[in-house]
Amino acid sequence: MKIRVKLRKDKFSARRGGGSKVLDIYCKRCNNMIMIYQKDGHGRLERCYMDRIIYPSGYQSLEELICNDCEAVVGEPMVFKKHGENRPAFNMIQNAFRKKASTHVEIR
Ligand SMILES: [Zn+2]
Repeated sequence: MKIRVKLRKDKFSARRGGGSKVLDIYCKRCNNMIMIYQKDGHGRLERCYMDRIIYPSGYQSLEELICNDCEAVVGEPMVFKKHGENRPAFNMIQNAFRKKASTHVEIR
């Protein structure tokens, strides 16, 4: 699978330093791929914002983020409200996932 993407650049990415990268996020328990995600800025991955999930589409922040293979809970729904933001996200459970630079995107 290869997806052509254009990185999103907006006030949210600017506030996080302007640099963005794309990550593949896997379930740590069973290695199933959970999502492809645009991470803005440095540091560890604490939250996955809905507006940065590249694949799959259709997540709702009202639900837990669950591995659809082994049903491990990987993230909890939240709304990030610091800095005047109001962004639905998943608060990631740090020992439930692993990530690596995406091999599924072609950035245009
Ligand atoms: Zn799993």
